[in-house]
Amino acid sequence: MVIPLLRLAARALARGGGGCLRLARAGLYRPRCRICSCDLVQAREAILCTDCRGRIVPARGNACRVCGAFIPAGLDACGSCLLQAPPFLRHRSFAAYEGTLRQAIILYKYGEIEPLKHLLAQLCLETVRAGLAGPFDAVVPVPADRGRRHGFQPVRALGAVLARRLGIACWPRVLRKIRRTQPQVGLTRAQRLANLDGAFALAAGSRIAGKRILLIDDVTTTGTTLHRCAAVLKKGGARVTALTLAQSRL
Ligand SMILES: [Zn+2]
Ligand SMILES: [Zn+2]
Repeated sequence: MVIPLLRLAARALARGGGGCLRLARAGLYRPRCRICSCDLVQAREAILCTDCRGRIVPARGNACRVCGAFIPAGLDACGSCLLQAPPFLRHRSFAAYEGTLRQAIILYKYGEIEPLKHLLAQLCLETVRAGLAGPFDAVVPVPADRGRRHGFQPVRALGAVLARRLGIACWPRVLRKIRRTQPQVGLTRAQRLANLDGAFALAAGSRIAGKRILLIDDVTTTGTTLHRCAAVLKKGGARVTALTLAQSRL
């Protein structure tokens, strides 16, 4: 009896969502919140419990009107936007890269819990509605390194859901990462710019002139990746607005 039950459980877990739900109803599997490990009891809870979900709230406080960087109250724009306008019209993040949102992004990206894309796309949608003037013609996700192209591509999957929710196209192949780069962590802004120099290119045959593009990425730190990608799209004649789930506080 035990072996067939275990087999049933393994098959259902491998199938994901619906299978787990059936096991849960049969009392064989108790789904737990992937952040706080509490039992998921409500039907609408999936992956995260209602409490953890409730702790993911939009950023409050003052932000640069152009690049969305968190800046002290009373200021209208940050120093770097005042010195030089970025290649995008505007950028906004849902919130700071900390707390429960940070945990959810890590679970999604590195835990490869793909169904989290629906929750994260909802946060993107709220960010668009709160502070990014559309309409847009297409969502363009920041491309992954070539080595990751065959596996799970979190930003691309998120972009596809967001585009569907906005009722527009997703163009995941317009931007290409043509060179492998070292991780940006621990680099200064100047080093980051040099690291990403020439890393992105417009795919041959992309017709983006005059298009209004919503460029998306999961997390931004100094904005270097967004700057580089937006510059490529702008050079191709597009008008670029940028969106990220979270930004690091510098
Ligand atoms: Zn929880
Ligand atoms: Zn700024």
